[in-house]
Amino acid sequence: MFLGLKKKQEEEPRSAADRASQLEQSEKRREFLLQAAQALLADLRQFALDLREVPYAAFRQELADLAERLAAEEKLGRLERLFDSRQRSIQEFVRRQNECLKTREAELKEIIDILTKAMAVLDNENREYNHSIMEQGRRLEELTHLEDIRRLKQSLLQEVEQLRRAVQAKESRDGAKIQSLAKQVAVLNTELQQVRTESERDGLTGVYNRRSFDRFLSDLLAKRSGADEPFSLLMIDIDNFKRLNDSFGHPAGDSVLSAVARKCRQLIRIQDFLARYGGEEFAVVLSGAGLRDAVKKGRQICEAIAATRYVLEGSGRQQPLALSVSIGVSVSAAEDTPSALVGRADKALYLAKASGKNCVRSEKESQ
Ligand code: GH3
Ligand code: MG
Ligand code: MG
Repeated sequence: MFLGLKKKQEEEPRSAADRASQLEQSEKRREFLLQAAQALLADLRQFALDLREVPYAAFRQELADLAERLAAEEKLGRLERLFDSRQRSIQEFVRRQNECLKTREAELKEIIDILTKAMAVLDNENREYNHSIMEQGRRLEELTHLEDIRRLKQSLLQEVEQLRRAVQAKESRDGAKIQSLAKQVAVLNTELQQVRTESERDGLTGVYNRRSFDRFLSDLLAKRSGADEPFSLLMIDIDNFKRLNDSFGHPAGDSVLSAVARKCRQLIRIQDFLARYGGEEFAVVLSGAGLRDAVKKGRQICEAIAATRYVLEGSGRQQPLALSVSIGVSVSAAEDTPSALVGRADKALYLAKASGKNCVRSEKESQ
């Protein structure tokens, strides 16, 4: 309804002068209302946003038509009908425009969500990715120039998917690398273990070598206190070994060295320390053993070796060979040093050799 024109029925004018004045008033009022309507229509035209989804050109044209026809002073009835129909289309336009703005707001919220997740993915990645990520960042930036908000969202999703695939590919590459590194570490560990063992063992007999013996003995003496039980040292030397080598060859001598080492190992306890001291000489540290026990153990070794017959492989000799060893024994003393302890055992060994070999002598006897 065009209320402005219908609103008031003026009272009947009383005289011609009154009527003229009233007519003039009414003319001015009409003029004002027309201008006000034109201004409001112009404002309404500005209110229409340039949205792809709600074409605004036709709407603006309708508003312009209405403004023109109001000014053209058409008949009241026609103006009322025209206004009615325009009012409906104005309301429809406003409704659609609001709806479209709401949809856009929701879409933008979704895009922000996608970007937030993408940032989280970026955050988790390490620097190796910087280049490809910068590249994707550039493409993301380009996307923001697109006008169609749905295409923008779709493209963003594709970019995020690509990013995720890049991260997964990197993860599986890293996984393979880590696996192969772990294998290499395991191999190196085994090799290190081997090298360690080799460095402390004698290559021929497999017992500890001279280096390990020296370290073991000095450590043992260094950490001893006066209250500790003494320990003993056996120096074992194969008798007439040079002759054996000369008669049956070096390989036969080697196999005898291994056999003597094996026999010694069998006869001592697990906590006792056996080393090849050099050439055809072995050293045994008997933990917790005094001189008497050590001499006893020495005799046991001496007798066991003398009682054994050795088959010399590859020597051509059919008869098993008899062997003997001589043993010198020393016992740890307060303030002892490795060289003093070894020296006393060596002196006892010398005495055993001088006493006819195949016997045991202690430091007490060789003093
Ligand atoms: P003794 O009864 O006085 O101990 O005399 P021996 O012949 O046993 O001692 P000697 O010191 O005269 O000779 C030791 C020999 O041991 C000399 C050397 O060639 C030999 N020998 C040293 N190391 C090895 C080795 O690894 N393998 C072999 N087969 N012989 C070795
Ligand atoms: Mg010797
Ligand atoms: Mg010898």
